[in-house]
Amino acid sequence: TRKHVTVLGLGLMGQALAGALLRDGYTTTVWNRTAAKADDLVARGARPAGSVAEAVAASPLVIICLTDYAAVHELLDPLDGELDGRVLVNLTSGTSQGARETAEWARQRGAAYLDGAILATPEAVGADAVILYSGPRTAFDRHEPALRALGSGVTHLGTDHGLSSLYDVAMLSLMWNILNGFLHGAALLGAAGVQATAFTPIANKGIETVNGWLAAYARQIDEGAYPAFDATLDTHLAAMEHLIHESEHLGVNAELPRFVKTLADRAAAAGHGGEGYAAMVELFRKPAA
Ligand code: NDP
Repeated sequence: TRKHVTVLGLGLMGQALAGALLRDGYTTTVWNRTAAKADDLVARGARPAGSVAEAVAASPLVIICLTDYAAVHELLDPLDGELDGRVLVNLTSGTSQGARETAEWARQRGAAYLDGAILATPEAVGADAVILYSGPRTAFDRHEPALRALGSGVTHLGTDHGLSSLYDVAMLSLMWNILNGFLHGAALLGAAGVQATAFTPIANKGIETVNGWLAAYARQIDEGAYPAFDATLDTHLAAMEHLIHESEHLGVNAELPRFVKTLADRAAAAGHGGEGYAAMVELFRKPAA
């Protein structure tokens, strides 16, 4: 029965998850509120369940991927004992608090619970998708082969159920900040007639360079000391001025660099001007005054 998996929710992501399991030879039971979304999968060998209860009863491992946690509870709350003894893996995006509450809810119903976060598009599922899990290690170990079929970037983060959601939002912060920097850079260069495609190879190189800084910065963050080994925050501040002036001069939006400088100014005012850039973490650690 380790080769039996149920997938609840066949939206864009759920269909990709079920498809990956089918490709890997799993007996895959599927259910979706709008039943027609199961048709393609059933044509490829999936077993359609007539109800949520029937779907949950079909496999020891139940993977659920819906719009949000409210939908998860709407679907599973009415069950009567079917979750007992199951491993429930919730790949629905949500908050760490939602994950911890759902873990307690699952515990009361006798289910082992893993919360997960998919850091990939449906296209990467079944290939190199990064999918993060948190919750009991034993449940993860037991079903790791099936979870690996969903994406080779499978990682168990720890037993705190909230971790996968927290990593998920931390990665969103990273993604949007990198993309905003790239897009603002493209706007600046575009104002001088440079195509974004010309900027891209240099931008890729720049992202690689910054990537190389993270490990040393991380050690400083963990130690809470930020000696400047590359450049001081004051040196960064001077460069931020150039970026703002250049943006204004070219008539492109200067809000983003102004905001970045506002934050750096505040860190400098708090006494971090002579330290390295990682000292900015002190500012991010607490709400704005
Ligand atoms: P879709 O909108 O394509 O699918 C949503 C699914 O949720 C459908 O199966 C829908 O059923 C079901 N659903 C919603 N509300 C209810 C309800 N009250 N009762 C029963 N079923 C319900 O979204 P995705 O598949 O793209 O996303 C699903 C989750 O995966 C989200 O949490 C999303 O954040 C996450 N995710 C998605 C990524 C992506 O690239 N798509 C990337 C990473 C994470 P029905 O078909 O009947 O409407």
